[in-house]
Amino acid sequence: MTRLAQVRMPGARPFAPRVSAFTRPFWDALADGRLVSTRCDDCGTMSFPPRNLCRACWSRQIAWVELASSGRLYSFTRVHVVPRAFAADAPYAIGVVDLDDGGPRLMCRILGEPAASDLDSPVRMLVLHYDDGPLFGARLLESE
Ligand SMILES: [Zn+2]
Repeated sequence: MTRLAQVRMPGARPFAPRVSAFTRPFWDALADGRLVSTRCDDCGTMSFPPRNLCRACWSRQIAWVELASSGRLYSFTRVHVVPRAFAADAPYAIGVVDLDDGGPRLMCRILGEPAASDLDSPVRMLVLHYDDGPLFGARLLESE
């Protein structure tokens, strides 16, 4: 089990996620430094975000599994024009990461200043700790 690096972020999350009874294990794990999601017990399909129903075979036999703490930057964009709630953070980078170990592809905040030459470069997943709870993000390994 690998604990994700923790980064302190200012203020509260601009759009705090709605936590349900089903998604609580995800948020509790993230607060604890672990990135988890669901995998179908019947066919092995991974889901991200977590789902209580397999999108491949419709099975409800799902299990929580820990995801890799590293991956590769598949794509990113730098956001300059933002909704008001994100104004304090702009400009910032959002990226698509392919997690290692056959993990899912996910989208998250990319800390730092990624450039086109960073595509397919290794990233480390992070817990972004805000005053009201965690979000997940990533940072290029070489920028650490
Ligand atoms: Zn399935």
